[in-house]
Amino acid sequence: MPLAGERPTPVAPERVAEWIERFAAISEPDSGPGVTRLAHTALERRAHEVFTDFMAGLGLTVWTDAAGNTIAEKPGTEETAAVGTGSHLDSVPSAGRFDGIAGVVAAMLLAERVVTDGVGHRRPLRFVAFAGEEGARFGRACIGSRIVAGLTTTADLHQLQDAKGVGLAEAMAGVGLDPDAVADARWSPREWAGFVELHIEQGSVLADAGAAVGVVDVISGSTRLELTVDGVAAHSGGMPMHLRRDALTAAAEVVLELEALAGTADDGRRITVGRLEALPGSITTIPGRCVLTVDIRDIDLERQCATAEDVLERAAAIAERRGVTLTSRHLAEASPEELTPSVRRTLIDVAREVGTEPLVLPSGASHDTQMIKQVCPVGMLFVPSRAGGVSHSPHEDTDFGDLARGADLLGAALLRLAR
Ligand SMILES: [Zn+2]
Repeated sequence: MPLAGERPTPVAPERVAEWIERFAAISEPDSGPGVTRLAHTALERRAHEVFTDFMAGLGLTVWTDAAGNTIAEKPGTEETAAVGTGSHLDSVPSAGRFDGIAGVVAAMLLAERVVTDGVGHRRPLRFVAFAGEEGARFGRACIGSRIVAGLTTTADLHQLQDAKGVGLAEAMAGVGLDPDAVADARWSPREWAGFVELHIEQGSVLADAGAAVGVVDVISGSTRLELTVDGVAAHSGGMPMHLRRDALTAAAEVVLELEALAGTADDGRRITVGRLEALPGSITTIPGRCVLTVDIRDIDLERQCATAEDVLERAAAIAERRGVTLTSRHLAEASPEELTPSVRRTLIDVAREVGTEPLVLPSGASHDTQMIKQVCPVGMLFVPSRAGGVSHSPHEDTDFGDLARGADLLGAALLRLAR
């Protein structure tokens, strides 16, 4: 039996495969290829129940907070601040099997190893499944972790709406959560000594470098905007080209202008128009209105803010030249976050001790850990994505052996932080 602070026996890749597949099966039927388990739906809650049952089966104390985050605790030898790990169980539409789930499965199998091996630890260990990480539906990511970090309040939940006009608070209440009580879900810095999340990379940096594991130094921030271009809807046959005020051609020019603004240097800045809707959407009508979303990511806060201003200025200039009007709405904002250097050090140390040289890299995607940094010291471990690093796609892929090895390193780091 290992002594306190030692590593538990390794997680088996077959167990990883088994649980990845079990969660993948909890998916919206007839929703096309891949996994669809959107935030704040009955399916997301079902996945949390699976997590709850597993952890309760190990003898851990499990609870779900008003925001829908599920937390399992294994007491330490002292009643002191806990260290935790976890990720999220919701997905984007037509997602892969690994985004978020990888970190939850790692937490589950790690909990299993620690319990089965009887590994001792001074601090309590907490295993977390966050709710509503993907921002696809309400335009805001990391809802569950923002709530525990005190960054999202009941009032915010009553303001956000999805494309069909359903409010976030309404959606939460609809699946048995309590948007009016989320203040109770807040984590106190006194109760938390550290948090480490394992996640797939969602890029190909690790695979291209032949690295088995990555340690994240900074998570990109994001600024999300919605731009509405208003022109004049008119008959596609009747209206001569030179008299048109076409909202879609103006929007198209904006899209290309923003791509040029982002440039091609791999310097951490990314600009994406992910949604573009032309109205009224008829083959014989010149689009009178076009609504598009802009997602700006950066590892440098100053440049992120400057880019957002630049985006609005350039879009306004195009609109003016084309005789259409531009209005904008600010959807969400997150600053880039440097993760805690001491936790990063621990992650690098535990990898090197087993002869694995980790690659230190930034994360372009946002993660729950970014929010948890408001509460306690945090770190992130990346496991390689295969298939060219695609994610938010049914083609998302990660090797089960890589994931099992990542879970082992996560366990070693967590137990060191729990000493
Ligand atoms: Zn994720």
